[in-house]
Amino acid sequence: MQRGEQLYSGKAKTVYVTDDQNKLILHFRNDTSAFDGTKVAQLDRKGKVNNKFNAFIMRKLEQAGVKTHFESLLSDDESIVKRLDMLPLECVVRNIAAGSICKRYGIEEGIDLKPATFEFFLKDDPLHDPLVNEYHIRAFGWATEIEIVEMKQITFRVNEVLTELFAAGQMLLVDFKLEFGRYRGALLLGDEFTPDGCRVWDDKTREKLDKDRFRRDLGGVVEAYEQVAKRLGVPLD
Ligand code: 5GP
Repeated sequence: MQRGEQLYSGKAKTVYVTDDQNKLILHFRNDTSAFDGTKVAQLDRKGKVNNKFNAFIMRKLEQAGVKTHFESLLSDDESIVKRLDMLPLECVVRNIAAGSICKRYGIEEGIDLKPATFEFFLKDDPLHDPLVNEYHIRAFGWATEIEIVEMKQITFRVNEVLTELFAAGQMLLVDFKLEFGRYRGALLLGDEFTPDGCRVWDDKTREKLDKDRFRRDLGGVVEAYEQVAKRLGVPLD
């Protein structure tokens, strides 16, 4: 597959067109960022770890019946995906309180959420990705009523599959973010699933093994990602 022009460059990935108009190449870079891009760094091996981690998770989800954009690994830090028409929304499920939900509602980190909560956020950095509800999504045309239902259903299904997978590696899947896009009339899971977009804790010590290590200057960021990968059985080489 020929890598063509750059279509889009985000904070940690660059997207390229290919000679097939229905396929894109995702390049996972070593760049990392937090707080709307105000804190940035380059972390050795991160692009490769995240590319392989994402491939592993997407394949597990496909095996569980979740339709994703993932096609195949192209190189250590690149993957081939279907070209989706992305919805400008982030879907967040939380099993344990952490991050913005604690700040927003004055809740202590670490409390079990029963039921697991679901939130939509608008993908808009200048607006700091605000929380939005289903009426906003419909009124502003960011997704249809059917797509809203599907996004919730698929995200909760992903939560079921991955909570079990992480539990088998003695880890808690605290929360995660998904993004969806349209492809030939269907809604597919797009973007990525890596420790950049989820929270993962050791189930006994509750040690943080995700991007919070970068956000909070805890160090050992990529080492933690590699630890999660190892516990899940992700082949990194
Ligand atoms: P929070 O709302 O607590 O900041 O984030 C909830 C979950 O979604 C966390 O696992 C966080 O990593 C992920 N998340 C939320 N927004 C973004 C984003 O813009 N980019 C990435 N990579 N992950 C996000």
